[in-house]
Amino acid sequence: MRPSFHPRLINDPFSDPGLYIPFLFEKRALLFDLGDLSPLTPRDLLKIDHVFVSHTHMDHFIGFDMLLRIFLGREKVLHLYGPPGFFSHVEGRLSGYTWNLVREYENNFVLNVTEVHESCTLTRTYLCRDGFINDGSLSQRPFSGILLKTPAYYVEAALLDHRVPCLGMALVENFYVNIIKEGLRRLGLEIGPWINEFKSSLYDQRDLNERFSVTWKEKGNIIREKVFILGDLAREIALISPGQKIAYITDTTGSPENRAKILRLATGAEHLFIEAAFMECDRDTAERKYHLTAREAGMIAGEAGVKRFTIFHLSPRYSYRAEELQKEAMEAYLLTRQKA
Ligand SMILES: [Zn+2]
Ligand SMILES: [Zn+2]
Repeated sequence: MRPSFHPRLINDPFSDPGLYIPFLFEKRALLFDLGDLSPLTPRDLLKIDHVFVSHTHMDHFIGFDMLLRIFLGREKVLHLYGPPGFFSHVEGRLSGYTWNLVREYENNFVLNVTEVHESCTLTRTYLCRDGFINDGSLSQRPFSGILLKTPAYYVEAALLDHRVPCLGMALVENFYVNIIKEGLRRLGLEIGPWINEFKSSLYDQRDLNERFSVTWKEKGNIIREKVFILGDLAREIALISPGQKIAYITDTTGSPENRAKILRLATGAEHLFIEAAFMECDRDTAERKYHLTAREAGMIAGEAGVKRFTIFHLSPRYSYRAEELQKEAMEAYLLTRQKA
């Protein structure tokens, strides 16, 4: 099975946090946190359309300008999500520049910014051609854990305690479509770009009684076509399996309240990315700074029953000792799994 998401940490585990999640076969990507983005190429950056910022400590938000700059002058809607107070942080960054020439741009770049509160979300739109002014418009929606929902996937979030509210996040794929090769052979079909279109029809939950046309090129560029009823074709060539879950947890304490929220986000994840800022022997510092220890990260990963986990946001005090933190987290993970 080929996963649809290919998440990767943008920086090494001692540098700024940030998870880049491109979608297979699509020119799109999501971003969890907006730290130093310099390892991403312009091509990577241009794919981003939704950014979820855990909180606005500098190491999680300094990449805002780089992202803004690459989209200026383009036809694009960029969606940003952040914790309470996010509007003023975004506006603070926007007001640091002069925007007198943006009216001349032909394309319209739009920032759609959402502030996440315990029981509602607030959204504001900032137009490049208006110099990104706050025009006072504000839309409010109830929030009960799901920030973004599409036919193929959704993004869950919870406000964790980092002495400031900090968003923990999970990206959940609704289901995954595998293609059965034997079915293709039985129907005499060749693989081609139509496969993506077919998968999209299922992800978009199109009417299964609709007609679906399969076209492909044969030798000599002859175009062949066969027409099916979507549901009939799906029965022959599609195997539906549960989708992937990717969880991202950073800058939080291991308090019982936080752990309960983290477990809700991370349980059953294919891959959990979790901070492990300090070692257990420095737990007092971890608690003072509202961060997790490697042991706590491993225990949470074990309790959540994740298939794999990656620690990041390690304190520079352990430079060149990343394996020690990994070992501590892995031991706690295995011990917790054994007890489960
Ligand atoms: Zn922080
Ligand atoms: Zn941080």
